[in-house]
This record gives sequence, structure tokens and C-alpha cells, in this order.
Amino acid sequence: MRNTDIIVDVRNLAVEYGRGRKTLRAVDDVSFSVHRGETLAIIGESGSGKSSTAHALAGLVGTAAGSITTNLDSPAFGKGGSSHLIFQNPTSALNTRMASWACVAEPMAPGRVRIPQSLRPKAVELLRRVGLGAELADRLPTQLSGGQRQRVTIARALASKAPLILCDEPVASLDVSLQEEVLQLLAELRDEHDLTYIFISHDLGSVARIADRVAVMYLGRIVEIGPVATVLRTPSHPYTQALLAAAPHIELERRSRRKALVRGELPDPRNPPSGCRFRTRCPFAMDRCASESPALRAASNSAHSSACHLSSPATSTGISNLPQ
Ligand code: SF4
Repeated sequence: MRNTDIIVDVRNLAVEYGRGRKTLRAVDDVSFSVHRGETLAIIGESGSGKSSTAHALAGLVGTAAGSITTNLDSPAFGKGGSSHLIFQNPTSALNTRMASWACVAEPMAPGRVRIPQSLRPKAVELLRRVGLGAELADRLPTQLSGGQRQRVTIARALASKAPLILCDEPVASLDVSLQEEVLQLLAELRDEHDLTYIFISHDLGSVARIADRVAVMYLGRIVEIGPVATVLRTPSHPYTQALLAAAPHIELERRSRRKALVRGELPDPRNPPSGCRFRTRCPFAMDRCASESPALRAASNSAHSSACHLSSPATSTGISNLPQ
């Protein structure tokens, strides 16, 4: 990919909540870039900073340090020129007093209290594209199922014409069968509309299905980043290995699963461990890990980096049933 294809470039990003001694640095020194048309997944446990990163990109929270540079105003990205956030809980993203078609049309009529009827045909067309018939257009969001509501939010994202879609756990609240359908829909729309996704998830199965690259976050920092097939087949960082070992629907060689399971609880993010933040749970921790923070550096190839003093790919914990 060429640098001119970069749609968003994040450098040394920090996001903080609270003040003084109670300050929580949820994102710390995070850097990555996303290219046009690709899907970058960001995974990690609750408290890893993945959603805070997405919310900073959407402008919902301020940045304490670093920069976010976007190329969204470029003529190459059409009229949208912005990003759009799809939330985990579709109900919170929709006005429950508006008909579904009006919820979809709202981004096409910014600042308008009443959504013009003239936008209804386009909204109904978008609803159809996400698999919702015209008979559902007048229903309130509360009269739809959870899966239908999430489809309305996806149609809304299309209506915004935003070239960058931030998907914050978009299938986490859905049944497993619906998750697959919505992931398939997101992939189709990405290809049809040349969209770029940043896909926040704690589910490796979803990430394996939709992402081109994946960044693994732990306690506010990226610990591993690279092509999704490389990271999931040959995880380099002990935390990524532990996440894979704990994924019940991903096949692992049994002995590796026992060995790689993560120990203990997530440390208090207000008081993270010195050196490597994963050291209190890492089965391979050494003295050096307490005093020296490992830098993110290339492991097996230049596109695959990990932040560990033992930065060699551990092929024995790779997964064997990745979708092709
Ligand atoms: S730097 Fe040390 S503690 Fe951190 S992941 Fe690597 S071996 Fe484990």
C-alpha cells in the first residue's frame, strides 16, 4: 500500500479520564495507521483501551497527548469527509421516538429537527440494502429486534457517506447466528462502498472473519500488530497467545492451550505495573521485564510487530481453523 492511501494516522495517542491522583490513562503512546479500504481490528480485554481509542478517533473524548491525522477531506474520499461510529448497543445510537426510516435519514439532514419526507425513498432503499423490508420503515427502533436495530445503525452509517466507519463491538450484543450475518453484511458494504473500518472487538472469531490487520491492546498499549492471519496463526506476544488460548471457538493444540492461559486479574489501570505492563500475568516474565518497557518492534516480518523482550514468534500456539 502507498502512504497516500493512509486514511487515518495515529501517533503517540494518549487518552485520560479524571484528574490529579485519580487520573486514569486509558490509552498510552498508541500509534498506528489505517489504509483506505482496509479493516483494522483492535482487540483486547475490557479495560485495554480499545474503545477509548475509537472514541478519540470519533472525537467523543479528548486526547491528552499525541495526534490523530486524517485524510478524510481529500477529494478521493467523496462528499462524506468524516467518520461514523457504530455502537455496540444500537438502541443508544437511535432516537427511539423516530421511525426507522427517519433514523436512517437523519445524517442526510444535519441540524434538522424534522426529517423531510423527501428523504424517505433513499432511507427505505438503504434499509433494503441492509436486509430490512419497506414494511419495517415506519416502525420505531423499540419495535424491532436487536439484529434489526443494528442493521438500522449500519444503514445510518451508509447514509452518512462517511468513508471511515468506527465499529465499536458491533455484533457483541447479538446472537451468534446473527453475528455471522451482520459481519457478512459489513464485509459486503465495505467492498461495495470502498469503506474503511476500524473494528473494535474482544472476539477473535469476529476479527478473523472481517479484519485485514489486527492490533492487540493491553492496559492502554498496543502489544502486537500485524496482518490478521500472521498474528492469529503465529502470535508473538505472550498476551496474544493467552487470548488465543482462551478463545473457546478457535482450535489450539491442547498442550499449548494449557501453557498459554493467562494468569491473574487485570492490574489497576490507574497504577499499571512498571516495565512491561503484562509482566504480572506473564508466564515468561524476567527481571528485565520489571525495569524496562519493551518497545513495539518487528517480529517475523516488517508488518508484524510485538512489544516483548522475547520477541520471537511462537508458532506452536497458532490456530489451525482460520477462515480462508
Ligand atoms: S516483556 Fe517480559 S513480561 Fe512482557 S510479555 Fe515479554 S516476557 Fe512477558
